[in-house]
Amino acid sequence: MLLWCELAWLGDEDPPAGGVLIECDGERIWSVDHGVAQAPTGAEVLHGLVIPGIANAHSHAFQRALRGRTHATTGSFWTWRRQMYELAGRLDPDSMLALTRACFAEMALAGVTLVGEFHYVHRAPDGVPYEDPNAMGEAVIVAASEAGVRLTLLDACYLHGGIDPDPVQRRFFDPGAEAWAARVEALSRGSLVRIGAAIHSMRAVHPESAAVVARWAESRSAPLHAHVSEQPAENEACRDVYGATPTALLHFDGALSERFTAIHATHITDEDIRLLAEAGACCCLCPTTERDLADGIGPATRLRDAGCRLALGSDSNAVIEPFEESRALELDERLASGSRGLFTGSELLRAATAGGYESLGWPSGGVIREGALADLAAIDTDGVRLVGIPPGQLLDGAVFAGAAADVRDVIVAGEFVVRDRTHLKLDVARELADSIAAVTG
Ligand SMILES: [Zn+2]
Repeated sequence: MLLWCELAWLGDEDPPAGGVLIECDGERIWSVDHGVAQAPTGAEVLHGLVIPGIANAHSHAFQRALRGRTHATTGSFWTWRRQMYELAGRLDPDSMLALTRACFAEMALAGVTLVGEFHYVHRAPDGVPYEDPNAMGEAVIVAASEAGVRLTLLDACYLHGGIDPDPVQRRFFDPGAEAWAARVEALSRGSLVRIGAAIHSMRAVHPESAAVVARWAESRSAPLHAHVSEQPAENEACRDVYGATPTALLHFDGALSERFTAIHATHITDEDIRLLAEAGACCCLCPTTERDLADGIGPATRLRDAGCRLALGSDSNAVIEPFEESRALELDERLASGSRGLFTGSELLRAATAGGYESLGWPSGGVIREGALADLAAIDTDGVRLVGIPPGQLLDGAVFAGAAADVRDVIVAGEFVVRDRTHLKLDVARELADSIAAVTG
C-alpha cells in the first residue's frame, strides 16, 4: 500500500513534514520520503496530520461499562472499587468478549492501534476456574482481533485479596505463581497478539510469588507490568507489612528491568524513582483515571528528569481521549507547580506512541520510519478544533486541543481499520449500547 500524507510527524522535535510518501509492505513500513509535492497515481491520500498509531498501555476494557455511573458517588478510590467489583462479578466470557470488543473499537476510533489490556478477571463467579481456565483471556484476544487492534494481553497474577477479601476477588485468583505461569503459557498468540505478565499489585501478590512472575517474564523476554503506589494507603499497608515501598519490593524481587512498566506511580518516593530509572523501566501514567479516582498527580517531570521512559493509559476508560492523556502530563503539573513548558508537544506525543509500544513489547512500533510497524492515525486538521493552526504548530495543536473525534483514519498492520471516522467492521455505538446493557441491566 502506498500512502501520501499531507503532513506527517516523523517523531523528532521538528515540525511535521509536508508531502510524506509512506510505502507499506504487509504490516511494515518499507520506505518514508518527504517533500513529495503531489500524491502519485494509485496512492491513498491521508489529509490532515498523520501520526504513528497510539498505544494505550494500560486498559481494563470491561470497566467501560461504569462510565457515567460512578461520578455521583462520594468517597474515594475504595468506594469506586466496590462498584467495579459488582460489575466484575456479573461478567462471563460472552459478555467479556462483547464489552471488550466494543471498548477496543471505541479506542480504534480514537486513533489507538495497540492496547495493553491488564487482565485479571479469570474465573467463574463462584471462584472456580472455567473449563478452559483462559476462557476470559481468550475472549479478550478475540475481541482485539474483531475490533482490529494490536494487543498485548498482560495477564495479571492475583493471589490474595488482603485482610478482608471481597467474594468477587475469588474470580481473580490463581492458586499460586507457578499455576499462574502454567495457565499463561496456554494462552493463544498471533501476529497481532503478544502475551505479557503482570503483578496485579503488592496488595495481591506476596514478594516470593512476584519473583516467580518476574522470572517467567525474563525467561520469555515479555513485558512485565504492575500497579504501583496509586494510593497512599497502598504504600502505608506495604510499609506496615514488609517495611518497604511497593517499588522497593519489586526491586528486591528482581522485577525491575527495561521490560518493566510501573502503572500510575502516583505516590512514589525519590528513591523509588531512582530504582526505576536505574533499571531503565517505564512508567505508565493514566491521568484521566487518576483524576476520576482522586488518586493524585503523577510525578511525570520527576520521572522524565530521572531518565524513566513514559507511557500513557486510559485505565478505567472513564473517557477514551488519548490527546487528553498526553496533554495532562503537562497540564496537571502546571496546576501543581505554577510553571508552563515542562514537556514539548513531541515528548507528550512520544509517550502516547513509541513509549507505549516499547512498554508493551513492540519496540518497532509507534514511529513512522523504515522498518517500523505500519500502524498510523490521521487527524483532521480542518475541523472546528484545529482549523487555523499553522502547519508548523499543528503537532502542539493536536496534543493540546485535539480530541478523539478528530481522528479520521486509522491503519493497523498496513490495513485500514477506521476510514473517514467509521469503523470498517463494527457499528461501535450499537456494540457499546448492547454490551453495556447486558452487564448492567
Ligand atoms: Zn489499572
